[in-house]
Amino acid sequence: MHSKKIIMRKRAEYKSFQSSRFRKVLLSWYKAQKRDLPWRKTKDPYKILISEIMLQQTQVETVIPYYKAWMKKFNTIKKLATASLDEALMLWEGMGYYSRARNLHLTAQEIEKNYNGKIPDSFENLIHLPGIGKYTAGAIASIAFNKPVPAIDANVRRVLTRLLCLSPSSSKDKTFWELALNLMVTASPSEFNQAMMEIGALVCIAKNPRCPNCPVRSHCNAYLKGMQNRYPAIRKPKKVEEIEVVLGIIFNDTMVYIQKRPPQGLFAGLWEFPGGKVEPGERPEKALHRELKEELGEKVRIISNGKAIRHKYTRFKVLLYPFICSAQKRFSPGSRKGEFRWILQKELKNYPFPTANRKIIQSLRFP
Ligand code: SF4
Repeated sequence: MHSKKIIMRKRAEYKSFQSSRFRKVLLSWYKAQKRDLPWRKTKDPYKILISEIMLQQTQVETVIPYYKAWMKKFNTIKKLATASLDEALMLWEGMGYYSRARNLHLTAQEIEKNYNGKIPDSFENLIHLPGIGKYTAGAIASIAFNKPVPAIDANVRRVLTRLLCLSPSSSKDKTFWELALNLMVTASPSEFNQAMMEIGALVCIAKNPRCPNCPVRSHCNAYLKGMQNRYPAIRKPKKVEEIEVVLGIIFNDTMVYIQKRPPQGLFAGLWEFPGGKVEPGERPEKALHRELKEELGEKVRIISNGKAIRHKYTRFKVLLYPFICSAQKRFSPGSRKGEFRWILQKELKNYPFPTANRKIIQSLRFP
């Protein structure tokens, strides 16, 4: 069905279930039950911006310590804008999706330059900042500035889908946006958006929603039809592939070689040890020599191999084989473009690494 028709039909359904009563019940539930989260104690747009970026792709419990550490070091947008990218990435290390930290750093610099250090309050300006999409712009505009803009995250989509029994074909971004806007009406946008997200996080959860405890169950079409477990339609999870990777931790005397990843793509801007994928049927030692020759144009001597470790990222798993190697000289990598350094082993803690590399640093006994 055409999205406009769905919206009109669903609007009528909203009216039939008394949307003002729905808002009242939802908001009083939120007031009483909301979690005590650090970013809810403030209306400072900078703090709300940081929390929203961190909460993209990462669970609340994981974000809390990162948020607190971030606020200790970068409690103003100016401090973030004038820091180095490495400093920002260090604080992000382990949280994944590092493009968020890079974009945050760029956003801080842009706000300093173009908005005199003040976070813009309009959805239209926010959405043009690096790394800020429709959801995040809506969340900042509504939560920090109380602007009547929806903030549709996965939780809100799920709640709306169940409230209105939306089919996959009608679950379009535009439909959710219009419906949320229509529901919000005179409610406080800040409280309303947070209440919708909170009910999705605590009650209308993905598997087995807690309908008997749900304050809006008498407004919920899926619940009233006994079909709450059928919405949203379940997608088959994608198979997570495991790749085998070799890494060379190359020493020359007391110095160890590290290199910076390119500014785009996976783990962009982080530091790493050189290496690469093991080809099918290839022995890890052979793969290491091949990779180092291709990547650095160098031959090294393997001194020992560390314990292989497994690490799971969201979209793939890795089995990492680390090798301690020695090089005859502190070489400059031949054809490789990009930054590299020879540093003391104790300095490894000052550089941001992907989590799997960090695990290796912590597990290895260096020469
Ligand atoms: S009644 Fe159940 S399905 Fe409906 S909104 Fe509440 S928790 Fe979700």
